[in-house]
Amino acid sequence: MAKIILTGDRPTGKLHVGHYVGSLKRRVELQNSGEYDQIFIMIADAQALTDNADTPEKVRQNIIEVALDYLSAGLDPAKSTLFIQSQIPELCELSFYYMNLVTVSRLQRNPTVKAEIQMRNFETSIPVGFFTYPISQAADITAFQATTVPVGEDQMPMIEQAREIVHKFNSVYGETLTMPDILLPDNKACLRLPGTDGKAKMSKSLGNCIYLSDTAEDVRKKIMSMFTDPNHLRVEDPGQVEGNPVFIYLDAFCKDEHFQKFLPEYPDLDALKAHYTRGGLGDVKVKKFLNNVLQDELAPIRERRKEFEKDIPAVYQMLEEGSRKAKAVAAQTLAQVKRAMKINYFEDQALIEEQAKRFQS
Ligand code: ATP
Ligand code: MG
Repeated sequence: MAKIILTGDRPTGKLHVGHYVGSLKRRVELQNSGEYDQIFIMIADAQALTDNADTPEKVRQNIIEVALDYLSAGLDPAKSTLFIQSQIPELCELSFYYMNLVTVSRLQRNPTVKAEIQMRNFETSIPVGFFTYPISQAADITAFQATTVPVGEDQMPMIEQAREIVHKFNSVYGETLTMPDILLPDNKACLRLPGTDGKAKMSKSLGNCIYLSDTAEDVRKKIMSMFTDPNHLRVEDPGQVEGNPVFIYLDAFCKDEHFQKFLPEYPDLDALKAHYTRGGLGDVKVKKFLNNVLQDELAPIRERRKEFEKDIPAVYQMLEEGSRKAKAVAAQTLAQVKRAMKINYFEDQALIEEQAKRFQS
């Protein structure tokens, strides 16, 4: 069976280092591994509109930002199809049919949707489109017959929902859709990177992000003012590394070679953590090290972004070409779905003949 990846991001802001470690970096590795037959990367503008209906301009402006983040992180249009969700109307059609296979109470139980509804203060005024976005996400995944969906931990309930839809569809209408598997980051710190404010998730909507496109100076400032262990007041005090975002970021980004390069008095992260826990290691020193580590990772991304920014029309052209390719694939799946559901009346010669006979007899 072909190995196919589908994943993407909502164009609600620029991409941040949480997206990078949670999904984007992995995609680039998978793309370059040559192990996948096809890779589809979607800018989910239609999904972004489900909770940004009143601010379409925000979504429109961020399409190019996300595309530039993709290219500068190393996604290569020669190997991966980059496309815009709203340009593939087949996805809406699939969603419409899948809606019949999901109950309202099942959607209400989705923990990510629950948390997001709370975060957005929707209370009882939840847009129907937002409420049903797990269904449209199942359409996105299955339209490309994706086997693998590399995402952060918050997406687990979405993939579970998609799997249920695939199971239900195939058992009612016959084997048609491919069962997708989630691919989570191996590194625990990358499952859900916290914000610079120590909040559980770095998120565009919470303003606690380090963006891939931040300048070196912005990154440095954000790191130096990061939340750490609130009880670690003096250098000599013992500090806590668990739940301390500075150390979580180090867990996510730091490699042993960074110690040789920037902090040779420690062999590795375990040694640094042990010193912090013991006491006698100040936050400033750890933050300066984290800054060096992050700059090392982000500098090449920033440089590449500058190059891609020089030809913006070419980026739109690449997205248009990608959307055209993606549409052709989604159309094939939709045709299979309609055939399976027996709503392909005009290509079903047997049906027409059978009806003709019925009316003649
Ligand atoms: P929004 O607030 O608009 O939902 P977001 O920051 O949650 O934005 P998404 O576009 O919803 O970003 O998520 C894109 C991808 O990035 C998903 O795979 C998601 O799991 C992953 N992701 C988002 N935030 C983090 C994070 N803090 N740590 C790890 N992965 C993340
Ligand atoms: Mg999100």
